[in-house]
Amino acid sequence: MHSVSTRDDPPRVLAPYVRVGFQDGALFLGFGSIRRPVHDRTLWEPLLRLAGHFHEPRTRAEARSFLDDLCEADTSRAEAVMRLLDDGNHLISAHAYDPADRYSRHSLFYELSGADAVQVQLRLARARVVLLGCGGIGSLVAVTLATAGVGELVLVDADHVELSNLTRQFLFTEADIGLPKAEVLARELQRRNRDCRVLPAVRDVGAGEDLEGLPDCDLFVVSADSPGLTGTVNAYCVRNGTPWMNACYVNDIAVWGPLVIPGATGCWDCRPLTAGAPEGEAELSRLVAGINGRYQAPSNGPVNMLASSLAALDALRYLGGFGTPASLNRRMGVWSHDLMLDGQDTERDPDCSTCAAAVPVREGVR
Ligand SMILES: [Zn+2]
Repeated sequence: MHSVSTRDDPPRVLAPYVRVGFQDGALFLGFGSIRRPVHDRTLWEPLLRLAGHFHEPRTRAEARSFLDDLCEADTSRAEAVMRLLDDGNHLISAHAYDPADRYSRHSLFYELSGADAVQVQLRLARARVVLLGCGGIGSLVAVTLATAGVGELVLVDADHVELSNLTRQFLFTEADIGLPKAEVLARELQRRNRDCRVLPAVRDVGAGEDLEGLPDCDLFVVSADSPGLTGTVNAYCVRNGTPWMNACYVNDIAVWGPLVIPGATGCWDCRPLTAGAPEGEAELSRLVAGINGRYQAPSNGPVNMLASSLAALDALRYLGGFGTPASLNRRMGVWSHDLMLDGQDTERDPDCSTCAAAVPVREGVR
């Protein structure tokens, strides 16, 4: 019997990321975090045959007909087998994966998260991201977003490439020393994806700076280390209804988030996230400033990569609409020395002086 695909029953195929195997007396279906054991031996053969049937595009009706023949009218067994394949994103749209497409491997990742890869890629192509800071974290977030197909990136940084940057700012070379980071980075991103529109802005981004001249965007990513900048950006973004996220390191800890969506999540000011100077204690404040004024971060390539990759993944999740960003209402950290996962709650405080009046302006891309 050959059935016709309909809008409600589109043809699907077995996702290429599905693997099966036997271990400890069970058949394991799937791979990675969606791997699950099937202990009922009567399901093994029909399950494997049905999975093989989906090497070609099949509608649900076609699969059911195939299964009914296999299970000889044992309806409950046929349903159990079908359910095993249906759960866990093992079956994907017949058009979701074209090995020759530049984004094809990412498409599988989006499908693995249960999203429609075509829609995710369209959302990314429509998105504009402003990166404040193009150093160790900003440059790696930028190249991850550009090569993933984000449509437009604005790179904001006043610094020039220095010799001591090269341990972690891998897109810069010795030949780039002395050149503006934003411009060198723009050149490197265009070499990697000419479809991404990249606009360099060689300008300062400090606390109290005028952010009004920056273009409207779907997401700000802040990785500049100017003291107080996060508070300035937070106030600006809450006022304008623009989502933003922080990415940084705290010595040995790779940090990303919170991802702030004004009116929907907590903001940077909802809860104290960092230690500050004592209030009303002039002498103590002077002593604190004297110590902190000589601070130099022990910036390390792998820690920069860790923070930037996890921040970029959350940015792609948010912009593309797949999965759930890990840093929604949380400031996350990986302790690189002992691999502990850390998180600070950034849930919304209804009395927050910055965001109490914020209303959800928009969700997702423009
Ligand atoms: Zn707040």
